[in-house]
Amino acid sequence: MAGVAKDITHRKQAEEEILKALQRERELSESKTKFIVTTSHEIRTPLATIQSSCDMLQYYINNLTEEKKQAHFSKIETSIKRITEIVQNLLILSEVKANALQFQPTNVDVIKLCQNIINTLINNSKNQNRLKFLAPTYSIEALLDSQLVCHIITNLLENALKYSSIDSQVKLDVNCYGQAIVFNVEDKGIGIPPEEIARIFDSFYRANNVSTVSGTGLGLSIVKQCVNLHKGEIVVNSVIGKGATFSVKLPTVVQTKCSNHLKL
Ligand code: ADP
Repeated sequence: MAGVAKDITHRKQAEEEILKALQRERELSESKTKFIVTTSHEIRTPLATIQSSCDMLQYYINNLTEEKKQAHFSKIETSIKRITEIVQNLLILSEVKANALQFQPTNVDVIKLCQNIINTLINNSKNQNRLKFLAPTYSIEALLDSQLVCHIITNLLENALKYSSIDSQVKLDVNCYGQAIVFNVEDKGIGIPPEEIARIFDSFYRANNVSTVSGTGLGLSIVKQCVNLHKGEIVVNSVIGKGATFSVKLPTVVQTKCSNHLKL
């Protein structure tokens, strides 16, 4: 009996790498298709609302009560805001993908920044009385990129508002622990299925319990990137049907000063 033994480790490794590359390519192509479908759908819905409200105003303006007219104007306004938000998120995502999202830290008054974000969200009549902001009585100044922090908090608060019922409260609290700032955003909403928590930060991923709540699956991938640029971390705690709490910890240079901040 004569035999030839040949070491094929390298060939096996090459095969595995090719298979992995193919899998990555397939995933990329799937996520591109998903992106086109989701984004088109997300934009088409507010566009249809704008179209129908415009039609009503154009053809029945003389028969509509003042209240009905205002309701149509406000629907148009909300829909335009939604489209603007989607386009804005797409632009940020394209910066993320091109590694062009810049980290430009400056000294930021953290509590004032949070208050401004909350005020902007409160301007939307649906959110009035739902947002609670808890801040320490001292002021916090920290070296952060205010624009990125704004993306983080706005996206987390908007999610907390839309994935919980209209009569439930959403809480933002901020604190500093040594040389780190911690933001917690808490809601009492639908929660996230435990087996899906690891995937919600992927672009375009949406958990299977979102039902008819609109979304593109872009917000959290942007949040994650903004947290990474700060070399921070984000953790989620959630119980399905009971709510979710997102905690963001950003290491930085912090200064605290005595002050009397109003609590909203
Ligand atoms: P979307 O536009 O779908 O809200 P995000 O990237 O912001 O996209 O979030 C990804 C997914 O994570 C959501 O589709 C939802 O399944 C889940 N999610 C995010 N925040 C919450 C929350 N506060 N409560 C429940 N589910 C959430």
